Amino acid sequence: METELLYLNDSYMRECDSVVLKTSEDGIVLNRTIFYPEGGGQPSDTGTIFYNGTTLDVDMVHKRDEIYHHITESIPIYKNSEVKLAIDWKRRYMHMRYHTALHIISGVVNNHYNVKITGNQIYTDKARIDFNLHDSAESVIEEILNDSNNIVKSNIKINIKYIRKEELLDNMIRVKKEILPDLEIYRMIEIENLDIQPDGGTHVKNSSEVGHISMLKRENKGKNNKRIYITLSDK
Ligand SMILES: [Zn+2]
Repeated sequence: METELLYLNDSYMRECDSVVLKTSEDGIVLNRTIFYPEGGGQPSDTGTIFYNGTTLDVDMVHKRDEIYHHITESIPIYKNSEVKLAIDWKRRYMHMRYHTALHIISGVVNNHYNVKITGNQIYTDKARIDFNLHDSAESVIEEILNDSNNIVKSNIKINIKYIRKEELLDNMIRVKKEILPDLEIYRMIEIENLDIQPDGGTHVKNSSEVGHISMLKRENKGKNNKRIYITLSDK
């Protein structure tokens, strides 16, 4: 049961038409969707399914065994129904801005600093980043954010590209190799002249859309681990 994931090629689609493939207590499966499912550190989209003069709130989209379930409170919809979808754009756009911000920071860190990012999570109003960083080097975080803000201001293009497995280089992989899925074709997010990595998330088209990155708070997570929260303000 395959759902065409429209957000993969166009993160800016806010509405689309779709057809119901299946309904069950797990949720509604559609032939195409603009809803991003929870995963990869990016939260699920929320929004609305319009059907026959009624509206259904989509609380989240959950991917299980490659099937995308749109979870709603009740399911007064049947197979083959034609529906219209709309995502909560304000929420999604924040996720796009935070996701791209994280890739910019990761590009800066990988290219210029002897530091590792060990985890991250996007929220609607902030993002969390874990650095493998010794106490004495803590001022490095401020430098990294400074450099990242310079990239944001430079109007750098962010591109979606597809490459074959053979073209995937070790230095493009940001996760432990074992958890990278084995695919023939990888969708890549490229920040021109800074970073390219396999990614299934939604991103802005231009770095300037990210807005100013500032540190919200920092926490110590053990001797060699620092956790910071960043927040974005409008450009
Ligand atoms: Zn990502």
